[in-house]
Amino acid sequence: MKAALITGITGQDGAYLARLLLNKGYKVYGLIARRSTDTTWRLDYLNIKNEVDLIEGDMTDLSSLIRALNFSKPTEVYNLAAQSFVGTSWEQPVLTANVTAVGVVNLLEAIRLTNPAIRFYQASTSEMFGLIQEPMQSESTPFYPRSPYGVAKLYGHWITVNYRESFGMHTSSGILFNHESPLRGIEFVTRKVTDAAARIKSGLQSELRLGNIDAKRDWGFAGDYVEAMWLMTQQEVGDDYVVATGKTTTVREMCDIAFSYLDLDYQDYVVIDPKFYRPAEVEVLLGDPTKAITKLNWEPETSLNDLVRMMVDADLQRVKQEVSLVAGV
Ligand code: NDP
Ligand code: GDP
Repeated sequence: MKAALITGITGQDGAYLARLLLNKGYKVYGLIARRSTDTTWRLDYLNIKNEVDLIEGDMTDLSSLIRALNFSKPTEVYNLAAQSFVGTSWEQPVLTANVTAVGVVNLLEAIRLTNPAIRFYQASTSEMFGLIQEPMQSESTPFYPRSPYGVAKLYGHWITVNYRESFGMHTSSGILFNHESPLRGIEFVTRKVTDAAARIKSGLQSELRLGNIDAKRDWGFAGDYVEAMWLMTQQEVGDDYVVATGKTTTVREMCDIAFSYLDLDYQDYVVIDPKFYRPAEVEVLLGDPTKAITKLNWEPETSLNDLVRMMVDADLQRVKQEVSLVAGV
């Protein structure tokens, strides 16, 4: 039986990837950071909490990573753990570097010390392109990160490439463009919008405060993107792949899709609040997934319209549950 260790299993992608690997017959282990409150709600949401084995550990603690590897004996390791929110990376740049950059080399070292034959996936990001150097970003586009998060991820990307080239390890870097789902953290703009639309429709909220709504992103569905992660570790050799839809949309248009689905006009509710502007913005991202499509035989399957509607439906459902809980019904 194949075994996989997923760091960041309590996050959006970790939960979807765990489900995918379980469906493929893997024994799935997850590294879980010690927190004072329960962080497993996404595993509950997908109904897989009892099917995965959680091992306590932290990306900043090399010894805990070695222990997790010795215990789980995986054939594949997926490094999805990170301080992943761009906004927070300006407030906590050192923590972001420790977890999102140095954490990667901790894990690679732990693998090199325990079993260098393990296949490794690194969750890289389109944020590494930042101030874009080409209108459509591919594996050969030069990087220009614009946030402490992007800078930290760039280290993670290059150290992954370096361990492949230095030690012949099977390491892959997936340069994933933004991907969303009903399990997306509420601080990211898509979930913030779909949650607000659901609350406004239900009479629980009156406005939605946003920053730069002219920013453009290449948004896909997390459920589609975890498939690409798995495909990378199945190849004969490790490599780097852009995973994207090849379409870009403004935050403004995304708001329109969410609100009009509920017969609302976003312009009646969205208030621009400079508090949400970033010290340095990534204005536009647009990925070229040709390599992933041709070499991995991967395809993005969910349109932005369907994705946003799926998220709005899930948030409406949550709001209903909240309301009935408060009403005691
Ligand atoms: P999330 O923020 O939802 O999940 C991050 C995970 O990392 C959580 O499980 C979190 O645990 C864990 N984590 C944070 N700090 C530590 C630590 N010190 N030690 C161990 N675990 C830790 O991210 P996503 O699922 O959205 O993304 C997965 C990965 O892909 C991340 O690395 C992200 O940067 C990257 N990525 C994401 C994109 C996207 O659009 N979603 C795009 C490109 C890359 P806890 O629950 O306890 O906080
Ligand atoms: P990112 O691409 O990883 O930074 O993902 P986010 O979902 O956090 O942000 C996507 C884009 O939406 C960025 O260009 C933000 O500046 C923009 N944006 C506009 N208003 C907001 C907001 O209120 N919250 C967030 N998170 N982003 C916003």
